[in-house]
Amino acid sequence: ASPHVPVCQAASNKPSCKPAVFIPVDRSPEIQEARLKLPILAEEQVIMEAISENPIVIICGETGSGKTTQVPQFLYEAGYASSNGTIGITEPRRVAAVSMSQRVAKEMNLSHRVVSYQIRYEGNVTDETQIKFMTDGVLLKEIQKDFLLSKYKVVIIDEAHERSMYTDILIGLLSRIVPLREKKGLPLKLIIMSATLRVEDFTDNNRLFSVTPPVIQVDARQFPVTVHFNKKTPLDDYSGECFRKVCKIHRMLPSGGILVFLTGQAEVHALCRRLRKAFPFQKNNTADDDKEESVEEIRKFKKSRKRKKVMTLPKIDLDNYSVVPVDEGDEDRDAETDDDIAGSDIDLDLGDGDSEEDEKSDSSLPLYVLPLYSLLAPEKQAKVFRAPPPGTRLCVVATNVAETSLTIPGIKYVVDCGKVKKRFYDKITGVSSFRVTWISQASANQRAGRAGRTEPGHCYRLYSSAVFMDFEKFSAPEITKRPVEDLILQMKALNIEKVINFPFPTPPPAEALAAAEELLIALGALKEPPMTGRLKQQLAAKLSCPISPLGRIMATFPVAPRYAKMLALSRQHDCLPYAITIVSAMTVRELFEEFDRPAVSEEETAKLKGKKARLLQMQRIWAGQGPMQKLGDLMVMLGAVGACEYAGCTRKFCEENGLRYKAMLEIRRLRGQLTTTVNSVCTDAGLYVDPKMKPPTEAQATYLRQIVLAGLGDHVARRVQAEELLDDKWKNAYKTALLDDPVFIHPSSVLFKQLPEFVVYQEILETTKLYMKGVSVVEPEWIPALLPPYCHFGKPLENPPPSYCSETGRIRCHRPSVFYRVSWQLPAVEV
Ligand code: ADP
Ligand code: MG
Repeated sequence: ASPHVPVCQAASNKPSCKPAVFIPVDRSPEIQEARLKLPILAEEQVIMEAISENPIVIICGETGSGKTTQVPQFLYEAGYASSNGTIGITEPRRVAAVSMSQRVAKEMNLSHRVVSYQIRYEGNVTDETQIKFMTDGVLLKEIQKDFLLSKYKVVIIDEAHERSMYTDILIGLLSRIVPLREKKGLPLKLIIMSATLRVEDFTDNNRLFSVTPPVIQVDARQFPVTVHFNKKTPLDDYSGECFRKVCKIHRMLPSGGILVFLTGQAEVHALCRRLRKAFPFQKNNTADDDKEESVEEIRKFKKSRKRKKVMTLPKIDLDNYSVVPVDEGDEDRDAETDDDIAGSDIDLDLGDGDSEEDEKSDSSLPLYVLPLYSLLAPEKQAKVFRAPPPGTRLCVVATNVAETSLTIPGIKYVVDCGKVKKRFYDKITGVSSFRVTWISQASANQRAGRAGRTEPGHCYRLYSSAVFMDFEKFSAPEITKRPVEDLILQMKALNIEKVINFPFPTPPPAEALAAAEELLIALGALKEPPMTGRLKQQLAAKLSCPISPLGRIMATFPVAPRYAKMLALSRQHDCLPYAITIVSAMTVRELFEEFDRPAVSEEETAKLKGKKARLLQMQRIWAGQGPMQKLGDLMVMLGAVGACEYAGCTRKFCEENGLRYKAMLEIRRLRGQLTTTVNSVCTDAGLYVDPKMKPPTEAQATYLRQIVLAGLGDHVARRVQAEELLDDKWKNAYKTALLDDPVFIHPSSVLFKQLPEFVVYQEILETTKLYMKGVSVVEPEWIPALLPPYCHFGKPLENPPPSYCSETGRIRCHRPSVFYRVSWQLPAVEV
């Protein structure tokens, strides 16, 4: 009883149409019913005709219209999947790849052996797999092994509007793979799916596709959403503001799920705890996500509550909002007919938006609070899709994953903090950091739209309309905002040498491409071109260097090229387990607790002081003795991880010694992952990383310094000598290869007081000054041996040509000035 109309029956007058194929799918009646409500079902025929007649099709539709779950099913039913041809779907987020494969398997009543997923380190793909969800990075790796992607009949690039770097690259690559497959007589269908309308980068782009692909618009039924702006924009405490808003909605507004957008996992958990405390509907389940709430218990609790007089719900006119009216959708505010609200108490105390809520109040309807973020275990994520226990209101506290990737049923109220946590990259140091920033207008509208899926809804924006008007319209594609060395290395591994000619949907700045190429040459991942001709030609030549054998090895490691180089070098002298640990620790940020924060009481100040003293003491111990100490902060990292593992990696140990427990768990996970990768690359290595590794020997510590230097070659700094002191601001300062300004060893470094002549640093952090973090000592004689590309053999240039970075406005100084004190007659280094 499938409602599926085989496309070609309906369109049989079209000669170009494929012969009618129809693979029956045995769906349950409930699923069938839910499917029929999805807007995309109405477009099935149009979509399938377009796909059958065009190699590339773009499908645009509101989030929740059914693109991700239904299009693969349409294709399956039309016979696009078979034992020798898979339907592949890429997602920019792991959470979507996993949960969508599960959902589609369930809808089609097929096992995960047929509808499977693959994310970087795990998956359930089998020989029988016909529909495969994966992250975009996974497909990119597959292209490296099989450029024509011959095992796929269809590739769907989902969430293309997110413009994640790998998605952009995949679209560029597939624009070339599709015609190649056509030529081979094995046509590949490419479907690009996107939530918002900004598809011009794909359609008005003659570098990308020779024939503009058709765009199919799926009109989603979207109910009106009333948007409420805050009058004031809270400066910092948006979490607290979210809490107050949820409390108000829950106490005053008719039933309907609440979806809160916050920026990160920690915030999500904190708000969940606070809300559960405020509305505890199960006395013994305030903080545990895992326990299934028993319906019986809730019923008892509801019964036990004193029933107050039913009141008419006051108009939602919370007076710290300015309400932007939307034509319709106000009727649903009237709660007189609403069963759920009838039994609950209504707090008439409206409008004191800034006063602290009574956190222990349990005078409202039970609130069923669930967290949702990328790293949450899949079975916990799945809870948001189930109906909340009867008589409760669903409240999902989510990060950006709920913006487009996942559609949560039954949401009527959205609380939007207006922020998102994003990775930022410093163009100079190339080091990334996570920062919380304002979202774009497009994102804000997406978030609001989540409220209007099943009935008219409301979106509460915790910022003013003036702030909203200042948001950028769309966020810029990721590729234009970050260093691209890892991407360039991946592309070179695909033998794409002239990256400048690559059909990027939006090309990265030429400057970023050049910087990446330069760094990869210095790391030995690319073969340097013979330098002839004028500067411009040199540059052009530089942007087309082929990959080296070392580069091929580096490309297989799932870490940035600098770190990949370290791993590639560290098979010698049994350094690999240590290098893996150092790389993991450098990748996971902030190993140590921050004790310099302002305290609320004297008692707390004393406590923080004590903890800090303890951490400093431990750091001195972890830094080792004698020559080991030269490994500096990296030795501290090794020592901390080693000590923590020795103690069984417990929360208690971390708390007692000033380590961040979460960071330690993350390091442990990464070490496992890197070990697995290393084992698959060097099959003879037979490496087993013992969590309780022994401390390195003195010799190993020295090799490790060399290995780190080889990976972070452009991060060498030299202390300014007395005769060079230009003025006071250079006192105790270092010169670096990348910056013109003085930089300093960070006070938290174990080398802070020692001021070695040459150091290598992991990153530069700009606070009151430019500070180097993750510092270890470098012996000058290593530099020419390990970093010839960075050395200038001869006298330093009198007037080195500065290069200007337009993004930061900083002048980069010419490298050789850093190294000119190095003497060249020293023995080669054994690495
Ligand atoms: P789109 O990709 O267009 O955003 P989806 O195909 O992801 O839309 O979702 C279509 C519908 O399927 C949504 O209304 C959503 O609620 C429902 N849905 C998706 N995943 C699940 C799930 N795991 N459980 C229940 N419903 C789901
Ligand atoms: Mg989707």
